[in-house]
Amino acid sequence: MVTGTSERPAGERGLTAGELAVTRQLLVHGPATRGDLGDRLNLSYASMSRLARALIVGGMATEDLEPAAAIGRPRQILTAVPSARHVVGVKLTGDTAYGVVCDLFGEVKATTRAALPRPEDGGVVPIAATVKLIAQLANRLAPKVPTVDGIGVSVGGVIVDGSVVREGTFLGWRDVDLGGPLRDRTELPVIVTNDVTALAREQLWFGAGRTHSTFGIVTVGAGLGVGVVRNGVAVEELIDNGHLLAHSPVDSSGPSCSLGHRGCVAAYLNREDLERHASAAAGHPVTIGDLVRARAGGDQAATRRLDDAARALGHVVASFAGALQTTCIVLGGEDLAAFTDSPALQEVIADRLRPGPLETQRCTLDVLTTPLTFTDWARGAAVAGIQHVLGA
Ligand SMILES: [Zn+2]
Repeated sequence: MVTGTSERPAGERGLTAGELAVTRQLLVHGPATRGDLGDRLNLSYASMSRLARALIVGGMATEDLEPAAAIGRPRQILTAVPSARHVVGVKLTGDTAYGVVCDLFGEVKATTRAALPRPEDGGVVPIAATVKLIAQLANRLAPKVPTVDGIGVSVGGVIVDGSVVREGTFLGWRDVDLGGPLRDRTELPVIVTNDVTALAREQLWFGAGRTHSTFGIVTVGAGLGVGVVRNGVAVEELIDNGHLLAHSPVDSSGPSCSLGHRGCVAAYLNREDLERHASAAAGHPVTIGDLVRARAGGDQAATRRLDDAARALGHVVASFAGALQTTCIVLGGEDLAAFTDSPALQEVIADRLRPGPLETQRCTLDVLTTPLTFTDWARGAAVAGIQHVLGA
């Protein structure tokens, strides 16, 4: 058996493009022989051998004989080492920082959380204190793993250059450099991403990306989030932060969203809008949890309202898939089960897929659902951090 040494290349450098390509194959698709990897990546035997050696010496991979070798020469199987890197992931909401530390495989090793500093006048969450808090979370998680090699932070809003929060609605931030000060304070590689983009990166390596090179993500909850992976690359900056899809029209006689569109997707699906309409109709405050419980008890009005929301989600799924030309959409979010439990979601998608009388081509659509607790959101940030540390 040949094992990697515990030594790492000096300076915790990112991987070369070739090393990254091999590592990514091993992480996404599992252990493989040098020959298989060379074929998949179109590399010569000599190049593949050189990369395998570099990864083994760097502690990123090990090589073992195939356990139950079939007839013929036993083959060497290359496997990524999960403990080769550990990264802290932090998801910031408006009032809380949720932290995890993950290994190279994105497996959560420990979790923690802390309340964010209270917003100052003008609703701005203090930046320096937030940087300090994230560093403290990283320190708290560090003893749970051999080393911390980097930090990924995810925030709802518009992020540029992997560092600057151009628009962080929930934090009251405008053009705030979060990555720079955090890098200075921790002396670690740091990446800041949009929270749904972080999920897209996570799905790219450890979810839908295993079977689809292009797919979309829709998250439902406090807002409607959208993420895109195109040809194996997560799109880092959306042109509209998902606005165009979130406000696409469903029924012009429907309820209004906060922007005044009648019957747009957000009017049905956005938690705030949904609860506002349900409360107005009931004459007292109604939460989405109340609606789900009422539906379970056979309440017609609650069932209709959740069916309408599920229908709106079905239209978004179909439109998004059509525009992106993918057969895979991933759904996530804290409120998702309220809508996926309604048959209206699949009915709308099936109806949108139905071919016309003279058409023969018919596509299918894989709609995958992923649970999204705050730990899952933080894990997305950690996976973005892992990819950043590796140079992806
Ligand atoms: Zn709208």
